[in-house]
Amino acid sequence: MPGLSPPPHLRDVRVLLDLLAALDRPGSPLRYDLLATFPHEGELHPLPRLVFSGPAAAHDPIRLALFGGLHGDEAASVLAPLAFLERLVADPARATGYTLTVYPLCNPVGYARSTRNNGADLDLNREFWRGSVQPEVIALEGELSAREFDGIITLHADDTAEGVYGYTHGRVLNEALLEPALRSAGYILPRDRRSQIDGFPARDGKIHACFQGVLSAPPNRRPRPFELIFETPALAPIELQVEAAVTALDTILDEYRVFLAYAPNL
Ligand SMILES: [Zn+2]
Repeated sequence: MPGLSPPPHLRDVRVLLDLLAALDRPGSPLRYDLLATFPHEGELHPLPRLVFSGPAAAHDPIRLALFGGLHGDEAASVLAPLAFLERLVADPARATGYTLTVYPLCNPVGYARSTRNNGADLDLNREFWRGSVQPEVIALEGELSAREFDGIITLHADDTAEGVYGYTHGRVLNEALLEPALRSAGYILPRDRRSQIDGFPARDGKIHACFQGVLSAPPNRRPRPFELIFETPALAPIELQVEAAVTALDTILDEYRVFLAYAPNL
């Protein structure tokens, strides 16, 4: 079916890493490295990390984390961070006041094989903060503990979805960011407005419950960062999924900036 798969060359992890690494040029506000490499079936698999430092603002940099590719068969969630970073490098002012740490390929073995699960056949998004020994989870939990993010955004693509939707739970702020993100993405792909999505009650594309073990801030971290999960419909053309996710990310940056500007007065 057209649109289901990324261009074949982007399925090659080495090609993808080359594209990510190429964003780290002299004078560029972006740094690329490998957070971890781990062996599986005789090969080393990389977990890339990119740190984009936006132009300074009057406040301390806002630290956001963006995660993609936790499920290896959700290519849009890998390609959207790449497209987002390409545009930020071309126009850094879009991220004024932010430091963005991006983990676009959290499940490299699953991506190479086009499987949801990792090399140990586990769903990584049920493994967090449960004593997991999976190398991907250990590396990412280390980052979530050490970097004290102000916000955490995770991208997924759902092949049962009829449009874009998201998970948000706990804080009013989460919903205040998700709603405009869904609205702006809704110009590119429709919103999934069913009353039940992914087995959870949903309203206007927003789900307030969540599975146990999803990627999140450390359980006892205070204050809690904002946490959003943004889902694109995996059966839609991949370039539209990427565009919808990039638009949602741009909107979240803008909306959170506005929120912070008004927060001291609340
Ligand atoms: Zn997923």
